[in-house]
Amino acid sequence: SGGRIEVICGCMYSGKTEELIRRLNHVQIARQRLQAFTPRRDTRYAVGNLVSHNGVRIEAQPIDSITEIRDYLRDDVQVVALDELHFLDDSADTIVETCQALADRGLRVIIAGLDQDYRAAPFPAMSRLLAVAEQADKLFAICVRCGAYATRSQRMIDGKPAPFDAPTIVVGGLELYEARCRACFEAG
Ligand code: ADP
Ligand code: MG
Ligand code: ZN
Repeated sequence: SGGRIEVICGCMYSGKTEELIRRLNHVQIARQRLQAFTPRRDTRYAVGNLVSHNGVRIEAQPIDSITEIRDYLRDDVQVVALDELHFLDDSADTIVETCQALADRGLRVIIAGLDQDYRAAPFPAMSRLLAVAEQADKLFAICVRCGAYATRSQRMIDGKPAPFDAPTIVVGGLELYEARCRACFEAG
């Protein structure tokens, strides 16, 4: 019992990692046993930590595939967290099946990640997790152009919107991505 899936989604800088860390802080205060994971491809900060843009961090095991969670899982763990879901190469099937299996075993599974890529297209695994989750929260950032609530991650190259035929995943921060609202988002 207690098994559930929680999804925290939104654009870049919407506070997904902050919210995940906030929930995990409560898990630690409640003395529940926790394991956190982070995709090895997320090289923006120190590998082995969940780090928000404001610098708060929590220890996490780097993984290449979501299937590795099963190998690392301790018998007595109660809460499993994964940040930056979009950095995993696994198929949407594999991601959903793994999360469902963990929740079916009674674990609280908390997943954070982008809901849309830099073209504003949904990430398939995230779309499907949103559908099956017990709890889903969609966060927003602030549009750097107009100050409205931002829902999209604009990829920039030399001050211009990146063309839409570029790779879907390119690791970067403020130098590469801007939070934009629907009106200020530009097609590449
Ligand atoms: P995410 O994991 O969703 O990318 P983080 O939790 O790492 O976001 O960072 C959220 C923090 O980013 C905010 O609390 C704020 O300090 C900072 N930030 C930087 N740019 C923006 C922006 N355009 N809109 C909102 N927050 C921003
Ligand atoms: Mg984050
Ligand atoms: Zn705007």
